[in-house]
Amino acid sequence: MRKRSSFRKAKRSAKKNNPSDSIHCVNRKEPAVTRLPVSVLFMIIDIHTHTFPDAIASRTVSSLAHAAHVEPQSDATNAGLYASMAKAGVDYSIVLPVATKPHQVEKINTVAYENNLKFKDKGVISIGAMHPAYENWYEELERIRQLGLKGIKLHPVYQGIDLDDVRTMDILKRCAELGLFAITHAGDDIGFPGVVHCSPDMCLHVCEEIPDLKFVLAHMGGWHLWKEVSLKLANTNAMLDTAFSLHPVHRLDDGHWKENEPWLLSQDEFMDMVQLFGAERIIFGTDCPWADQSEYVQLFESLPLKEDERRKIMGENAAKLLGL
Ligand SMILES: [Zn+2]
Repeated sequence: MRKRSSFRKAKRSAKKNNPSDSIHCVNRKEPAVTRLPVSVLFMIIDIHTHTFPDAIASRTVSSLAHAAHVEPQSDATNAGLYASMAKAGVDYSIVLPVATKPHQVEKINTVAYENNLKFKDKGVISIGAMHPAYENWYEELERIRQLGLKGIKLHPVYQGIDLDDVRTMDILKRCAELGLFAITHAGDDIGFPGVVHCSPDMCLHVCEEIPDLKFVLAHMGGWHLWKEVSLKLANTNAMLDTAFSLHPVHRLDDGHWKENEPWLLSQDEFMDMVQLFGAERIIFGTDCPWADQSEYVQLFESLPLKEDERRKIMGENAAKLLGL
C-alpha cells in the first residue's frame, strides 16, 4: 500500500514540476523542459488484462500460451500484474474474467469481489463475468452491481454464442438499465482461427438496439476484421480497446508463426482508426499477460497522437467509464 501511494505522490510532484503538461511541444524560446515519460504525467489505465487464481495461474497461462503461440509477459496472478503495473507506470489495470461455462459465473464474480477488496490500494480492479447461457443472469447482474463490479466481460468465441443472440441481447439491455458497462471480445480469436461469434454486423445490431449501453469492443473493434470495423462501426457509440492490436508481440518459438505473423495493425492504420472513431472512443488496453505493459506504454508514448488524444486514450476515457 505504501509503495502505491508513494508512486502516486511521485506522479503528482512530477506534474507540479512540469506544469505545461505537454512533453512534446517545447516552446523554443524557453529553456528546454526535461522530457518526462508520459507515465508520470497523467493517469494510465489498462482496461484489458487477465489474471487467474494463484493455485491455477501457472498451468492455465501455460496451456493458453500454447494454444495462442504467444509467450506470456507476467505470471498471470494479481501480484504479477501489480508488479508489471509498477514497472510500466500503469495506475489501474482492469481484470476481465471470462466464464467459459455457465455454472462458473457466480463463483467468478464472488472471487472478483474478494480480489477487489484485497487489491483495492494497488489499482487492480476486476469486473464481473457473464455467460449468455447462464439461467440466473437477471439476479446475477443485480448482484454484480451490488458487489460494486463496474461491468461485465463477454467472450462470444469461448462461450460459443453470438453477440446478438437473443440471450446476450437481453443481458446487454439489462446492463444498460443497471448502468453496468459491457466489454466483449470482438473479431477473430488467436486460439480459434476463423471462428467469429462477434462480427462488426453483430456489434452494429447491438449498438442500434441498445443505444444507451456503455459498450467496449476489444481488439480495436474486431481482431483481424479492422477494415469492416471501420466501415460499419464508425458511426456508433461503441468504444474500442487497443488490446493485442499493435506490435510488439512475443511469439512462442514453436514453429507456428510464419515471418511477419501475427498480422496486426500498423501504426498508420491505428492512427487512421483513431481519427475515424475519435480519441474519446479509443481505450488503452494491453491484454496482459499476452502483451508487455511497459512496451505498450512506451509504444503509446511514441505514437504521433496529440497530447489531449494521448491523455484520453491512455486514461481519461477509461476513468470516465469506470467512474474513477
Ligand atoms: Zn483478452
